[in-house]
Amino acid sequence: MLRVTEIFRSIQGESTHAGRPCTFVRLSGCPMRCVWCDSEYTFTGGEHISIEEVMKQVRAFACTLVEVTGGEPLAQEEAFILIERLCDEGYEVLVETGGYISTAKVDQRAKVILDVKCPASGEELRNHWPNLDRLRPDKDEVKFVIAERGDWDFAREIIERYTLERRATAVLISPAWGKVDLKEMAHWVPSSGLNVRMQLQLHKYIWGPETRGV
Ligand code: SF4
Repeated sequence: MLRVTEIFRSIQGESTHAGRPCTFVRLSGCPMRCVWCDSEYTFTGGEHISIEEVMKQVRAFACTLVEVTGGEPLAQEEAFILIERLCDEGYEVLVETGGYISTAKVDQRAKVILDVKCPASGEELRNHWPNLDRLRPDKDEVKFVIAERGDWDFAREIIERYTLERRATAVLISPAWGKVDLKEMAHWVPSSGLNVRMQLQLHKYIWGPETRGV
């Protein structure tokens, strides 16, 4: 059984897949506590649902793109089986993970969107660095959520140290909602000379930051 907060269909709000129709499977629970977390509602509760039932609900939404997210989806051992099942059925599968748990057991057909936690998150020390070595340039994306200038300086250093521009399909630079001046960030990013992608969370601009299940 999986502990599931919600399953819904919407548009993808982030990453290079932004704007595409997508079914989201949001699993409950996360071992991290990022100070700006926007999905604290996943920390507790959730419904225990079999993988078979999750698959049934996913099929009903009829999207070719499925994102497994959380909370931290990989904190549940059965999530790896769910990802495999989704891949077996031919879905294009995105796995959004906070970067604390190893991605080594994620089905190779799935695309990983890996967070690197910056200092202002309060969880920088829990980054599992070997995950960066597993990034694949034809599939995976790596994301830095920036809450202040120090986070951007940290992100630049990590991007260069791990040559992330070459290792990932995209390096995503995402402002923490309401924490950083977007115009300033839109200056920092091109000034850096890095081949990265500043992204805004589309769903929050459409429905507002507090709305769930959209
Ligand atoms: S890893 Fe994600 S879900 Fe967990 S605390 Fe951080 S932002 Fe929230």
